[in-house]
Amino acid sequence: MVDKQSKICSQPDCGGHVLAHAVCALHYRKQYYRRNKAKHNMQMHAWRAKDPNRAKQMVAASVAKKPQQYQDYRKAWSQANKGKVNSKTARRRAKRHQATPPWLNKQDMKVITSFYSDAAELELHVDHILPIQGTSFSGLHVPWNLQMLTPHSNKVKSNSLPPHGQQLAVNPKTA
Ligand SMILES: [Zn+2]
Repeated sequence: MVDKQSKICSQPDCGGHVLAHAVCALHYRKQYYRRNKAKHNMQMHAWRAKDPNRAKQMVAASVAKKPQQYQDYRKAWSQANKGKVNSKTARRRAKRHQATPPWLNKQDMKVITSFYSDAAELELHVDHILPIQGTSFSGLHVPWNLQMLTPHSNKVKSNSLPPHGQQLAVNPKTA
């Protein structure tokens, strides 16, 4: 709500002077960005696709100008997105062990990422039922080879085979 007398930004704890729509310049920009997020993202995507090297250079240049701020930002983002971070780490690791089959589709990838996000929220570890770096076999980085474990049981399990000799999700190349 607009305070007609003082024209103070309507956002809580702001106190800035009103520019338009009852908010200050900063909050106006923020609201504008939120309203046009999809369009903005599409434009940015197109801009990056047009000249990816220049885009990279410009990002690097702005990081170099304010390294501490970027480091803080990245740290805060990682803290708030543990599932995404863990999923990415697992993907890198799976790639190293050639455990991600080429026929895995985008939907499968999404399932994996949300599995890691859910686990992070529940403070559980994600485990490969068949380990992707077993000694005599190799499990796959696929949705049906993932399970959530408590940090303790994950340590106990280590790289052992699951009980009953289940043969799910084995990489035929290395099995
Ligand atoms: Zn404001």
